[in-house]
Amino acid sequence: MAHTQPVKRTQSARDASESLAEANESRADASTSTADTSAAPVLSLSDVTKEFGPETALDGVSLDVEPGELLTFLGPSGCGKTTTLRTIAGLEEPTEGRITLGGETVSGDGAFVPPERRDVGIVFQNFALFPHLTVRENIAFGLSDADEAATAARVDELLDLVDLPEHGEKTPDQLSGGQKQRVALARSLAPEPDVLLLDEPFSNLDVRLRVEMREEVRQILKEAGVTAVSVTHDQEEALSISDRVAVMNDGQIEQVGRPESVFERPESKFVASFLGRASFLEGKLRDGKVETGIGRFDAVTLEGYDTVYDGAPVDVLVRPDDLRATPASPELADGVIVSRQYVGPSFVYRVELESGDTVHCLHNHVEEFGLDESVTLELTADHPLAWYPR
Ligand code: ATP
Repeated sequence: MAHTQPVKRTQSARDASESLAEANESRADASTSTADTSAAPVLSLSDVTKEFGPETALDGVSLDVEPGELLTFLGPSGCGKTTTLRTIAGLEEPTEGRITLGGETVSGDGAFVPPERRDVGIVFQNFALFPHLTVRENIAFGLSDADEAATAARVDELLDLVDLPEHGEKTPDQLSGGQKQRVALARSLAPEPDVLLLDEPFSNLDVRLRVEMREEVRQILKEAGVTAVSVTHDQEEALSISDRVAVMNDGQIEQVGRPESVFERPESKFVASFLGRASFLEGKLRDGKVETGIGRFDAVTLEGYDTVYDGAPVDVLVRPDDLRATPASPELADGVIVSRQYVGPSFVYRVELESGDTVHCLHNHVEEFGLDESVTLELTADHPLAWYPR
């Protein structure tokens, strides 16, 4: 299990963070999410706890998922993502708490509805297609009760939805990885489940296909109008496909919100560190300024800053695109480049500051600086910076 502790905030900063969270929520309400927030949640988890012997895999997880929403549980290995998915599916019974699906209690209050009686579809990591059945037969698998003509019509509809109308008579071994995934999606969507669960849906695809399929899968789910819950440890995937992301740590949800909210306004250092390459500048608030290892800058650049925090020691979140390095003589420099990573279009430099902090900065591939080069750093962020009381 991950053991990163949530940051301990001072009372006043906690107030600030709560009002920040409220502001985030109101932005989330006004978001472009296709979820219908006026309707009752399709899926609701209330205080769900799951213990495996002495191990607490889930520790009081509460969350509502709205109709048509695509929500992703994101977190490091062992944080409880899969267990959450399995409790929703009915493959695990929570030790405590309640889960409702479509308004019906499926776990908790003395009830436990087995997986086969839950209106839930699952897309497995390995797609789990039947190798000896054709694409049509695979998709029709969950529709065995329907009459033949209705089944054929539904399969045609799904083949269109996943853009495989010409591939119905093939077997899975005649399909590419992306096509297999689309068949798996179609098969899970066929019975029109209340909720579709996706377990690390892109982990079996190569890197390029993964990026392509994210867009396609999101489009298919939105076109189908299904409510979907996925789990992943890949932050880029979570941010790019989801309406909302729930960041998990050590069996708990640390923050839930629109991808932009959790990335731009992480409420804890754990969330900040998990999303993007985060560095922290130690700073001190004084007279409306923050004093840091790269100089003083206006405290109004800090999200939710108020003069009541004056005098407080803080950690300011800076990501590589928030900073620019410029070569300078050692006497004037803020720090020294200690590593550089060439990633094609850009360089990511790691700079060790005189103050002891280490930060990263992103530069275009033509801006090549050497190792051990002395640099000054300029804060170029054009957005409010998240910060945490130390
Ligand atoms: P990963 O990304 O590696 O799959 P995860 O976030 O999905 O991780 P879970 O598989 O939900 O994490 O596991 C959460 C915790 O519960 C882990 O510490 C794991 O060892 C424990 N756990 C999960 N299933 C069981 C089980 N059947 N028996 C005992 N412990 C379990």
